[in-house]
Amino acid sequence: MAAAAQNANAARIRRLSSMDANRQDLIGGPTVLVPPQQLMALNGKGHDTAMTFERAKMHLEEAVTSSEETSPRSSSPCNLPQATPTDRYAFAFDIDGVLIRGGKPIPAAVEAMKMLNGENPYGIKVPYIFVTNGGGKTEEERCIDLSKQLELEVSPGQFICGHTPMREMAERYHTVLVVGGEGEKCREVAEGYGFKDVVTPGDIIKTKQDVTPFRKLTEQEWKNSRNRDFSKTKIEAIFVFADSRDWAGDQQIILDLLMSKDGQLGSRSETFDEGPPVYFSHNDIVWSTSHEHVRIGMGALRASLETLFKAVTGKELKTTAFGKPQLGTFSFATRLLQQWRKEVYGIDKPPKTVYFVGDTPESDIKGTNEFNESEMSDCNWHSILVKTGVYQEGTIPRFPPKKTVENVLEAIRYGMQREFAEVMKEKASNGEVDAEKATEAENAIEED
Ligand SMILES: [Mg+2]
Repeated sequence: MAAAAQNANAARIRRLSSMDANRQDLIGGPTVLVPPQQLMALNGKGHDTAMTFERAKMHLEEAVTSSEETSPRSSSPCNLPQATPTDRYAFAFDIDGVLIRGGKPIPAAVEAMKMLNGENPYGIKVPYIFVTNGGGKTEEERCIDLSKQLELEVSPGQFICGHTPMREMAERYHTVLVVGGEGEKCREVAEGYGFKDVVTPGDIIKTKQDVTPFRKLTEQEWKNSRNRDFSKTKIEAIFVFADSRDWAGDQQIILDLLMSKDGQLGSRSETFDEGPPVYFSHNDIVWSTSHEHVRIGMGALRASLETLFKAVTGKELKTTAFGKPQLGTFSFATRLLQQWRKEVYGIDKPPKTVYFVGDTPESDIKGTNEFNESEMSDCNWHSILVKTGVYQEGTIPRFPPKKTVENVLEAIRYGMQREFAEVMKEKASNGEVDAEKATEAENAIEED
């Protein structure tokens, strides 16, 4: 009966070629992306990990919408592959500067993924997820890109973008303003997340054009934007999903709402503390592009808005940012790993250790370390810094990692050696192996 249930579950997840799939295909339901050459193979590289995380994330979302659901989905393991999968620990990766640079895979990344998927001396498979502040792309688009770049079977369920936690807020807020991104894209993302009534700055400008004296909608924007009666609309929350394309116009509209009574456009609060909350999908002040110097990003807009609010109202504005290094992102990642473990092993606890591999001390390492030390964390988050991204050789990172390595392959080797040593130590203390073996495994861990 369990097998039948598993088959039914498996049948709900589609496998699509990563060469042909587009974002719409992935929004249509649980899907795993497969490099075309692996499409005919049942167990391609990363197959089990991709399938099980897609299912876990789907159920994690369902659990948010139906809180009465408490029983584990499946108390029996899924179809187990040849290499034994472990649930003892997991890896979480930043993408840019760790696996990908300038749109191309970092050479060690392809090998690294093979190692996690069973090509290692221990005969095990290690689960992994990807945690990125993202460049205005959805989990689905990130998934398509990475599947192609690493020739790996992956699912959107393995991806956490800066704005992923906003998905959980679709239940809390009905009418929301969504800011940023190109055209209608962020409205589509927000609706895909389950938000029922999504307003854009374009809708507001189209309805009342003198809202933004210096911003006129383009023909295309005019066509896409929706007229509505804002006297009957209460905007309950503001979400900055991607970088604003028009700081002045967007800030004017956000400021109007912040100064309003209960998010009612046109109204004015006397106390300036009745406006809707503002959420940013991440807080990176600058980001790397093809330009020789870093460019200002969403965190800069956040700083600007807070300063502006203070200048106009004399009051402090408190906004919320997701993404790394915010602890909420790491907490979400922990819950995803916990859900995954519950589905696959029937254990309602996250893996004991999560190795986070990143290239940016200010977001990846800071977030991992702080989360690990916080009360929110009920497992060990272990930070590993790679030298293939923004980190500059010879500099001392402001937020020191637990381990620094050359590249992602070394990061994985280190994590696996460390875990193997732990297992041997436990076995030695139980009398299952000689103490010598445990010492040998301990000594094998590569030192800095
Ligand atoms: Mg990075």
